[in-house]
Amino acid sequence: METWLEIDLNKLRSNYNYIKNKTGVEICSVIKADGYGIGAFEIAKELEKMDTKLFAVAFLNEAEELRKEGIKKDILIFNYVSPKTLQSAIDNNFIITLYSLDQLKIYQKEDIELDKLRFHIKINTGMNRLGINESDLEEILTIISEENIKVEGVYSHFANAETDEDFTDYQYERFKKIVDKMENSLKQNNILKHIANSPASLKYNSYYLNLVRIGMILYGLQPLDRTDENIKGIFTWKSKISNIRKVSEGERISYGKERITEDKTIAVVPVGYSHGYMRQLSNIGYVMVEGRRCDIIGKICMDQMIIDVTHLEELEIGNEVIILGEGITAEKLGELSGTIADDIICKISSKIERVVKRIEN
Ligand SMILES: *Cc1c(COP(=O)(O)O)cnc(C)c1O
Repeated sequence: METWLEIDLNKLRSNYNYIKNKTGVEICSVIKADGYGIGAFEIAKELEKMDTKLFAVAFLNEAEELRKEGIKKDILIFNYVSPKTLQSAIDNNFIITLYSLDQLKIYQKEDIELDKLRFHIKINTGMNRLGINESDLEEILTIISEENIKVEGVYSHFANAETDEDFTDYQYERFKKIVDKMENSLKQNNILKHIANSPASLKYNSYYLNLVRIGMILYGLQPLDRTDENIKGIFTWKSKISNIRKVSEGERISYGKERITEDKTIAVVPVGYSHGYMRQLSNIGYVMVEGRRCDIIGKICMDQMIIDVTHLEELEIGNEVIILGEGITAEKLGELSGTIADDIICKISSKIERVVKRIEN
């Protein structure tokens, strides 16, 4: 094994319990994008043993995959579900997001039993991505009633809960107003109402309603710009040194025309951008070997990178390298490469082997 991802399920449980205890409401575990790149199935299998109310993914095929692998709990699909695949949503008992009047009208034209589908309605409260506008609400509610459509939840999404308090308050107030209006017209009881994501769950204890949707916190990412010690990193991306050599000042390094400015010992690590390691981290990223920081030098290649190990002694081929985790945070790599932590981790390729552990602390 040249590179692998160690996932500590005890840390996952700890993050889950932290947010469960803090909010005291139902949890929707967000495992879209293959569990933010970490591995949706491993995460789901563990959380299914906890009391998570439901899972959420972006697309129907992700939900199908999880069902095939044996995940039984409810799965909410956030994103567009093509009308041709609605039968699968019925067969697999998925929950679809109803986010526009046009979408509902398209579904009505399909040869499908609409009353067999399960829906959560999404409300647009200012992000202007998916979500029903207040002006369409009445017409939608009429169709829902005529077609006997099952609405089990209502939700919206915060655009910037981490830093914009005014807009977050505004979105919440809008949501609350629309939900109150809807509740009188929907016949179902126990409707799940939800708007809080990870940053909102940490920052606003009055916005939990009866469910919070958590992604970042499960995976150990920090949703706010301060570090919350209760949120634990759940994975470490590792590799092994594949080659070591000495190079002299003036020699070239990797692709392109870059040159070494002083004599160095360098090592090759078999991880590159095909594994989802950002090429933008060429010359600015770093890894850890034997607890010491080693800078990436030269361009990151498709399957390899070169690091500076001049300051390390007695290094051998096969020595372990930490790519991400244990001192290298996704937040830091995001900052260095001009993106966010979520982007860094959800690019981690599914071709990398997953090793599941339970580390006692
Ligand atoms: C991704 C996503 C979440 C989870 O967000 P985090 O900030 O990672 O907790 C919640 N709701 C929706 C609609 C999402 O798309």
